[in-house]
Amino acid sequence: MNRKLDSELRSVLSNYVRYYNDLGIYDFYRRPPGAGDNPVLNLRNLKRSGGMPAAAEPDRDPATALRLIREDLGDCTRCPLHKLGRKQIVFGVGNPGARLMFIGEAPGADEDEQGEPFVGRAGQLLNNMITNGMGLRREDVYIANIIKCRPPNNRTPERDECQICSPFLMRQIDVIRPQVIVALGSIAARTLLAINASMSELRGRWYEFRGTKLAVTYHPAFLLRDPRQKKEAWKDLQMVMKELGLPIALRTAD
Ligand code: SF4
Repeated sequence: MNRKLDSELRSVLSNYVRYYNDLGIYDFYRRPPGAGDNPVLNLRNLKRSGGMPAAAEPDRDPATALRLIREDLGDCTRCPLHKLGRKQIVFGVGNPGARLMFIGEAPGADEDEQGEPFVGRAGQLLNNMITNGMGLRREDVYIANIIKCRPPNNRTPERDECQICSPFLMRQIDVIRPQVIVALGSIAARTLLAINASMSELRGRWYEFRGTKLAVTYHPAFLLRDPRQKKEAWKDLQMVMKELGLPIALRTAD
């Protein structure tokens, strides 16, 4: 830039660049005056649907790319959750080339303890949904959460915590490039889709999200509290299985 930046603009730009660096985007260019609506800088990377820009993940094998994202995350202190009792960061687990990705809300106590998403009672139910319901193995899919640290007392994640943490999830999605994403529960669905709607409005249809099809179903923890909804979740899984070309036998998601 050839003009002197005042301190406020410098600060805004610095935050802006850090945000996109977190997404793995490092190359910026300036449009000529009048060429766009942002007078300061524009990104080479275009937006995909999902309300967040697509990351420029270099062409590495997915396992290596995921490892590098984990290294970028480091011992993260980007949002307040790092000092609110988390034991460890819960990055995500599964097949780096998975066709199916599940995204939940946040780690709970068991996940915080073990460093892996969905390992408690809700995780056991998710495993049953994957194996007994869909005929897959847990290691065939990829499982992650919107945020990677346990909120105190399992409270709902704050919006700014989701906004700060989710760029890393977006990078994971862009590396894995699943054929289908299943958002587990309303917090995950609303955060990903930037839609403030009820579960009954969110379920039962497909969304386009970062070049991938996304469906919404109940969070397994909710199904543990209200098992009557399992048959509804099974309908959602069948919709996903149809999309993935998986045989739908007389299975159950119990
Ligand atoms: S929730 Fe995400 S952004 Fe916040 S400290 Fe943990 S890893 Fe960092």
